[in-house]
Amino acid sequence: MAENSTGKVAVVFGTRPEIIKLAPVLRALGEDGEAVFTGQHYDPELTDAVFRSCGLPSVAPAVTGVGGGSRAGQVATMVDQLSSLFARTRPRAVVVQGDTNTTNAGAQAGHYLGIPVVHVEAGLRSHDRAMPEETNRLLVSALADVHCAATPENARNLLDGAVPAGSVFVTGNPVVEAVTALLPDEAETARVLAGHGVAAGSVLATVHRPENTDDPVRLRALLDGLGRLGAPVALPLHPRTRKALAAWGVDVPAAVRVLPPVDHRTFLAFARSASLLVSDSGGVQEEVTVLRKPLVVVRTSTERPESVAAGFSVLSEPEDLVAHAGRMLSAESLARIATTASPYGDGLASQRIAQLAVGEVPAPPAVWMSAQFS
Ligand code: UDP
Repeated sequence: MAENSTGKVAVVFGTRPEIIKLAPVLRALGEDGEAVFTGQHYDPELTDAVFRSCGLPSVAPAVTGVGGGSRAGQVATMVDQLSSLFARTRPRAVVVQGDTNTTNAGAQAGHYLGIPVVHVEAGLRSHDRAMPEETNRLLVSALADVHCAATPENARNLLDGAVPAGSVFVTGNPVVEAVTALLPDEAETARVLAGHGVAAGSVLATVHRPENTDDPVRLRALLDGLGRLGAPVALPLHPRTRKALAAWGVDVPAAVRVLPPVDHRTFLAFARSASLLVSDSGGVQEEVTVLRKPLVVVRTSTERPESVAAGFSVLSEPEDLVAHAGRMLSAESLARIATTASPYGDGLASQRIAQLAVGEVPAPPAVWMSAQFS
C-alpha cells in the first residue's frame, strides 16, 4: 500500500475495547503486524488482564505521559510521540479502531507522515457533537485512507459525509470473532461464575459513560433501577464509576454485587449465563448480538442503531430501566433475539481488514459493499 515502505502494519490501540477488537486483526496480520500501545488506559485493572485474555503479550506503552491528561494534552502527546515512532519505523500502514483519543492521534500521526491510515469500525455516528467520541470519529473519517465499516448503515454514513466510495469497505466488526474466539464453554462458564460468586441467570451490568457517571441524579437512578430488577446483579465496576459512586455518595443496593473489572473471557462467561444485560458500553451493544442476549442501554443516544433495530437492545433513561427490562424479557422479544443474526458481521472482518492493511484491495470493492451478514 505505502509504495515507499516495506515496514510492518502498525496496529495502534490504547483502551480496553481497542485491545479486544484489534487482537483478532493482529492475529490475522501475523508477522506483518506490530502492536503499538499508547497507554491511554493507564489503569492496569483495565488493560493487563484484557491483554492476557485476548492472547496478546502485555505490550509496553510506546508513548509516555498520556494517562489521565486532558483531552487536548492526551491527543497532542500521542501525535507527537507516535509521529517520532512512525518516522523511525516507517510502517506500511497505520490501523486505528473506533473513536478514542488514541484513534484520533494514531490517524493524525500516520496521515501527517503520508502513511496510509486504515480505520476499523468506521462510520459510526451518534450525531451528538457533545460526545468526544463523535468528534474523534469525524476527524478520523477525514484523515483515513481506508474505511472499514462494520455495517452497510455505517458505510452509508461515510458516503453521506463525502468520503470517497472507493475507500469504503463493509468488512463487519472484528468484535464477532473476538467473542467467538474467547467464549468459554458451559463447564468453564460454571467454574468462572462459582469463582466470582455470581449466580447463573444474574443480570450483568456495566456503567462508565460520563453521561451517567458525571451526573449524580442519573447515577443514583441507575443504581436504584438495578436494585429493583428482581434478580441478582453482577456489576464489574469501571474505575471511573467507582470514583463517581464514592464522590456522589451513591449507595449500592443489596442485590447488586460489585466486582473489580474482569478480563474479557470472564466477562463473556458472565454474559453467556446472564438473563439480561444493562450497560452504557458501545462494545457490549455489539457483543449481545453475537451472544443473543437482551440488553437495556442506559443512554440518551446510540451510534449503534443496528442492535436496537434487530431487537437485541433498547435505549432507556435510568428511571425507565425496570420497565424496559420487562419488555426485553417478554417471550416475544426473547424469541426474536434467539432467531436473529448479528448485524455486525460474519466472523471474517479481521481477515478482510488485514488484507486491506497490507494493500490487497478486493476488486471490485463492491463485493464487500453488499455484505449483509445474514
Ligand atoms: N469488558 C471486559 N471486562 C469488564 C467490562 C467490560 O472485558 O469488566 C469488555 C466488554 O466485553 C466489551 C468492552 O470491555 O468488549 C467494552 O469496553 P468499554 O465498555 O470500556 O468501552 P466501550 O465499548 O463503551 O467503548
